[in-house]
Amino acid sequence: MKVLIAEDERVPRMLLSRQISGWGYEVLETDNGDMAWESIIGQEPPRIAVLDWVMPGLDGVSICRKIQEVSALPFIYTLLLTVKTDEGDLVHALAQGAHDFQTKPVRPAELRARLAVGRRLVDANDRLQEYANRMTELAVTDSLTGLANRRSFFAFAERELARSLRYQVPCVILLLDIDAFKSVNDQHGHAAGDLVLKTIAEICLRTLRTSDLVARLGGDEFALVLTETTLEIAAAVAERLRTSIAETIYDPPCEDLHATVSIGVAGCHGEDCNVDCLLRRADHGLYKAKQLGRNRVHLVPFPADE
Ligand code: GH3
Ligand code: MG
Repeated sequence: MKVLIAEDERVPRMLLSRQISGWGYEVLETDNGDMAWESIIGQEPPRIAVLDWVMPGLDGVSICRKIQEVSALPFIYTLLLTVKTDEGDLVHALAQGAHDFQTKPVRPAELRARLAVGRRLVDANDRLQEYANRMTELAVTDSLTGLANRRSFFAFAERELARSLRYQVPCVILLLDIDAFKSVNDQHGHAAGDLVLKTIAEICLRTLRTSDLVARLGGDEFALVLTETTLEIAAAVAERLRTSIAETIYDPPCEDLHATVSIGVAGCHGEDCNVDCLLRRADHGLYKAKQLGRNRVHLVPFPADE
């Protein structure tokens, strides 16, 4: 774990540095507050900062306060070094964000124990952060395919439609549903059905641009948002998707698998339209594609052209 030592007096700093690195920490030294702040906001910041209260540039308490203000920083445990023992000073420093104190002259065993507390808190914080990241990811991801889920589809599509209106650029939704998927499951088993879902997800991701979104709305239904794309281009993309999926040859033991999809395509070109409305129109296209025999793309014209 990286520990920053900010202390302007050379001898105590060298002593601290030798002790702390001897306890297995990676040490970073500086003799002033401004440089300390630079390293805190730099790439790979220290996770524990041992800060002299009074030093040239920013003082230790100001650094503690600034760390609290920058929300993008990871948790950094701050330990102030001070000759001050006045209760009011110490209360003030804690209120500004310092986590702990060590009065000078530093007693090595005590410092080592305080650093160990810092290390435990940093580790606990990292575990919590990791857990929170994982929860956030789960909340927006479909667990089988790894695609965006229904919730993130709506969030993304709403943003894109707002952008479409604001900048008068087209936006298209493709609604894709696997044909007779129930019989794929019935004939080949649920695991083979899952393989089809995952394969279609991969084909969609491969075919679309990174600025587009592929989501699994649920069951065998996928929604794709194509940003800044005209209906004609979207129709060509949909057709490419349809053929890629229909021509997919699955690896043994699933070589008998064969799946096709029907796709409804609806878009808007800068008019005020909401996600529900666009999705309803794409669903109408999908219904038509199913009705006309499946394994096909059906284009829904813009409302003004209908
Ligand atoms: P259509 O051409 O009209 O769309 O017919 P379909 O059989 O695809 O339509 P239906 O909605 O009746 O069937 C969808 C099937 O998708 C039924 C359900 O068992 C299956 N399914 C839904 N989620 C999953 C999943 O996560 N894995 C697998 N293997 N099957 C799923
Ligand atoms: Mg289906």
